[in-house]
Amino acid sequence: MWHGILKICIINTQKIGRMTIDLMDYVIEFHKDAERQGPGSDEATRKALQYIPELSENARILDIGCGTGAQTMVLAKNTKAQIIAVDMLQEFLYKLQEKIDRKNLNNRIVTKKSLMDNLDFQEKSFDVIWSEGAIYNIGFEKGLLEWIRLLKDGGYVVVSEISWFTDKRPKEIEEYWIDAYSEIDTIDTKLSIIEKCGYDPILHFVLQESCWMDHYYTPMLLRSDSFLEKYNYEEGAKEFIKMGLDE
Ligand code: SAH
Repeated sequence: MWHGILKICIINTQKIGRMTIDLMDYVIEFHKDAERQGPGSDEATRKALQYIPELSENARILDIGCGTGAQTMVLAKNTKAQIIAVDMLQEFLYKLQEKIDRKNLNNRIVTKKSLMDNLDFQEKSFDVIWSEGAIYNIGFEKGLLEWIRLLKDGGYVVVSEISWFTDKRPKEIEEYWIDAYSEIDTIDTKLSIIEKCGYDPILHFVLQESCWMDHYYTPMLLRSDSFLEKYNYEEGAKEFIKMGLDE
């Protein structure tokens, strides 16, 4: 039997997938110095961790779409496990590596550049797969189906995923999010997808509003001016910031 923990959150970086290479430069430049590249909090990471049995020195965690590693560092501090942190953007991994060096955690955390739908690891080699604000990049169902092969028997998956809290919502909001992420759905539907993919849902919780406002949106707003200045207010940079503010 597979175990899975669903951590629900609203992700607001959906547009990245559609960006051109030029826009990718903006994404990297705008987000690489940020603590987080998606909504979340150290507290939420610790909360989800509580529901997993204690991990020994031999346990292995795969942190997928780790970004600059906010959750990676919390996992390292609150477990004894070995952590492999993967992301497709080397610039984010360099930032995480700086944190690892500062905390002398090279014996605990390894970074690796990799696409999340092409993970070159041995089958059944991880006790836990962790992915905050990232699975939507390949789709919730595809990610869960793809990653299960990497889990040891009885292993755990912890993911966050944008979900509707209710069955009804304003049309404008619904249209916006469906356009941004066609797989967006209710928590109940996500739970049934988890089961369909062969996992046994253990628990889910909704991220607090502060995970988005204090830890994600507000820092983004605060970075906007210096970002625009850096790019001499060029049109592309302005458009990029406007896209973020529309969210
Ligand atoms: N977990 C981090 C980052 C979330 S943002 C946090 O919560 O702060 C999503 C991350 O997924 C980004 O760092 C992005 O570079 C990465 N990503 C997006 N698509 C990816 C893919 N196909 N393969 C690997 N990483 C990807």
